[in-house]
Amino acid sequence: MAVKQADLILTDIDYILTMDDSLTEYKDADIVIKDGKIVDIGKDKKSEYYGKTVVCKNKIAIPGLINTHTHAAMTLLRGYGSDNPLKVWLEEYIWPAEGRFVSYEFVKDGTEIAVYEMLRTGTTTFVDMYFYENAVADVIQKAGIRGILSTGILDFPTPGAKTPDEGIRKTVDFINEYKDSPFVIPAIGPHAPYTCSPETLKKAYEVAEKYDILYHIHIAETEFEVNTVKEKYGKTPVEHLDSVGVLSERTLAAHMVYPSDKEIDILSERQVKVAHCPESNLKLASGIAPVPEMIQRGVIVGIGTDGTASNDNLDIIGEISTAAKLHKGFKKDPTVLNAKEALLMATRWGAQAVRMEDKIGSLETGKFADIVLLDMNDPRLNPLYDPYTQIVYSSSGLDVDTVIIGGEIKVLSKKVLPVNKDYLLEKAEYWKRKIDEIRKK
Ligand SMILES: [Zn+2]
Repeated sequence: MAVKQADLILTDIDYILTMDDSLTEYKDADIVIKDGKIVDIGKDKKSEYYGKTVVCKNKIAIPGLINTHTHAAMTLLRGYGSDNPLKVWLEEYIWPAEGRFVSYEFVKDGTEIAVYEMLRTGTTTFVDMYFYENAVADVIQKAGIRGILSTGILDFPTPGAKTPDEGIRKTVDFINEYKDSPFVIPAIGPHAPYTCSPETLKKAYEVAEKYDILYHIHIAETEFEVNTVKEKYGKTPVEHLDSVGVLSERTLAAHMVYPSDKEIDILSERQVKVAHCPESNLKLASGIAPVPEMIQRGVIVGIGTDGTASNDNLDIIGEISTAAKLHKGFKKDPTVLNAKEALLMATRWGAQAVRMEDKIGSLETGKFADIVLLDMNDPRLNPLYDPYTQIVYSSSGLDVDTVIIGGEIKVLSKKVLPVNKDYLLEKAEYWKRKIDEIRKK
């Protein structure tokens, strides 16, 4: 008899892939949600509860996806200057556009477009590094998506701060403003070892320790960076950062394309987390990160898209598909990074990478009800022998049917509920016209 009250009951789900420690799976089962959290999960749970019910036949439930590295507002530069050498792309396209236009308005509009795309493709938590993170915070609080937000801190003037000290000060203000928000999770974002002095890196780390937040930084993305750091400090990037004292379990290293064998040992020992961004690394021709080696040696690796200017989308399912195939091909071994591991990168491992594994990353009682339902009622996705395989190798983010964050339905029947699409298209066109002007001069 239904005796217990619930806020939302998802019933008759074909497969639930919990992604918990034992990779528990349920078939034809239910998920019960109350006060934004999962209160029950498993077979025949629906009979015990009453409340709003959604029948989920032909669907697979997975945890909300986690994008561990992006620059959300760069949607406004999607496809701008693609296929050029990196130096040309940065110096003639990206930096002039950013220098001219990055503002509260730019970041707000770009992030709104990004949030639409992330929700549509099943991302429920993302890690951001850009400027005007207060604009990002305003957007995501309204949309009800979780963001771990860091302002890029560099040794030269940025759109938000004239000096690195000002950048750090503003981050502290941001932390104090949002410390109790369930959606805005402040982090600190020293940009990279070649753009931040040891002093800046250290000061930022002190803030991370004091406020117990994530230290989000790009490390070893390109050969250029490795050579620059070696020339300047006589050490490789990871060794250099280790000697500065900023590597620990709170450090999230984006890219990590070029760690040496010795550096992988340091990462493992210090429990540094890695945000693997394969499509950006391929598109910018940065290289291929030694992900299988890092995983094998106990480094937690999450998945990231990087900004859409170098990807050029925010589809996490597409990203793990690329990762799984890239490393098989590169290692000439089809057993490398299997579908379960690929999905772990986007779920539980991603949650560990951002130090939120007690709240998100798997479907378990007590965790936030951040849930994605994929629609498998499509000949493209059948026959269905193995749900993990089908998600990673056959489907895309566009097969996401329903997205729930903290128990609230954000996407239903492939429609993003809190968003006006026409308004976003107008915004995109507005910025395109402005940015196009730069190169006409
Ligand atoms: Zn990046």
